[in-house]
Amino acid sequence: MKKKLITSALPYVNNSPHLGNLIGCVLSADIYARFCRLRGYETLYVCGTDEYGTATEKKAREAGVSPKEICDKYFALHKKIYDFFEISFDAFGRTSDPVHTEVVQSIFQQMKPEYLCEKTTEQLYCISCETFLADRFISGICPHCKSTEARGDQCDSCGKLLSGLEVIDPRCTTCQTKPEVRETQHLYVRLDPMREALVQWQNESIRKGQWTDNAKGFTQSWMQGDLQDRPITRDLQWGVPVPYKGFENKVFYVWFDAPIGYISITKSQFPDTWEKWWKDPENTELYQFMAKDNILFHSVLFPSTLLATEDTWTQLHHLNSTEYLNYEDKKFSKSNNRGVFGDDAMELGIPADLWRYYLLSVRPEKQDASFYWEDFRQRINGEFIDTVANLVNRVLSFLDKHFEGHVLSVETDPLCADFVADVRHREARITELLERVSLKEALQTIVALGARANQFFQEHEPWKKIKEDRDSAHKIVSVLTYTIRDIGILLAPYMPETSKKIGAFFHETNADWKTLGDFNNLENTKVEKPEILYPKIEKETVDTFHVRFG
Ligand SMILES: [Zn+2]
Ligand SMILES: [Zn+2]
Repeated sequence: MKKKLITSALPYVNNSPHLGNLIGCVLSADIYARFCRLRGYETLYVCGTDEYGTATEKKAREAGVSPKEICDKYFALHKKIYDFFEISFDAFGRTSDPVHTEVVQSIFQQMKPEYLCEKTTEQLYCISCETFLADRFISGICPHCKSTEARGDQCDSCGKLLSGLEVIDPRCTTCQTKPEVRETQHLYVRLDPMREALVQWQNESIRKGQWTDNAKGFTQSWMQGDLQDRPITRDLQWGVPVPYKGFENKVFYVWFDAPIGYISITKSQFPDTWEKWWKDPENTELYQFMAKDNILFHSVLFPSTLLATEDTWTQLHHLNSTEYLNYEDKKFSKSNNRGVFGDDAMELGIPADLWRYYLLSVRPEKQDASFYWEDFRQRINGEFIDTVANLVNRVLSFLDKHFEGHVLSVETDPLCADFVADVRHREARITELLERVSLKEALQTIVALGARANQFFQEHEPWKKIKEDRDSAHKIVSVLTYTIRDIGILLAPYMPETSKKIGAFFHETNADWKTLGDFNNLENTKVEKPEILYPKIEKETVDTFHVRFG
């Protein structure tokens, strides 16, 4: 069994993550990591915050604080939100960690010179701030629509993308001084000499690791175009310094340093064992989770950095990329106060497991999807509570009332044999779906198992049978009790607290995937009288939230 190394795209720390961010990376990776641990794989789930880059620097300037202060604030917020959602990281770190600097610099120094080159370009320089200006630190007149409020990267008025040099009458956004054009040097990674090695590696990884369709499509179409040299350095202060002569005032471009964060965060938290994960490709499978906007960084650019070192690295095995989750058909937007963000979700009194259930049930796997409050209510009440929670309550209450929580061995009983075979068949299917990271379909199959069990209860009417054939009624509720115990185990990756609650009725503290399908081992257990798992969500409640977040 190969070790499972799992990563979630590192979130930027200049904002609160919204529900779409959560399902796109950290939550999806968490479901898979929890499954791998339950299944007995040696597992490591790594994530952390991506702290460098112009966006953070700009936000810090606007707020009049240092970039470090901004990052400290948002790191704490992200950590709190992920704790609330029960994200089970094995390592959660930060790219501002000194170990990150050390690892990025050492990987850069390992890159073979034939894959790097230096180029001179022109860029705007502010004499008063004594710095080159990133495009978003420039303001001026748009060359297309003549709006006087264009930024160096984009004009909000006509929507065109710009470069700082195109802007008419440019100004430094920090001090309003007119910048001058100066030459600057940057380092570039040369992708073209690596093309053959990259394509060969990608094709093999796509085949063995079964990447999602969008990952495969984006990557293959990009590789068919020109592979232009990509700059890996920038004239900024907030970043990893470049250990190269003449580059003392520059830092690495954030696309270059951020993915190395997976390695550096592991090394920072496991200094003695990090190599067993990152330098053991024979025995390790790397699973990376992200939204579609991050695909090329993981399928082309990060692999090219590692290939350029000609060293042995654990490379991507399975790329899992989602489409986008929107909010009631529009984009989430903090500035427009639209959508539920992580810090809002913690305050609404909805348990984390119900958020997790809903987000997985609408996970945008093949196309963009939308969060709707009414859909939230209907899926929680109609799917989860009516099917699974109701089954738990009616069967275990019946068992308690008539048989004092005692179950019979029913595995080979003719009354139950077909049902037992069906349950085992469905469980094998769920395991198979989870193995290949079909997270939404596996959850649907678990709920369908709950529906099948309810149907079995209805068909055999134990509440009638108990009067004339007590033994048959006892067998029916016994086989259903085993099924409920199994559903509790199957839900553990998705709804860890709910799984624990169900396990507690059986005096089991840890779900164990190996006990699935065992219809013999509860004979000496007194099954407890159940408590209601969750009350239904009221229509007025979601109507209020719909207004509040719309
Ligand atoms: Zn300036
Ligand atoms: Zn314009």
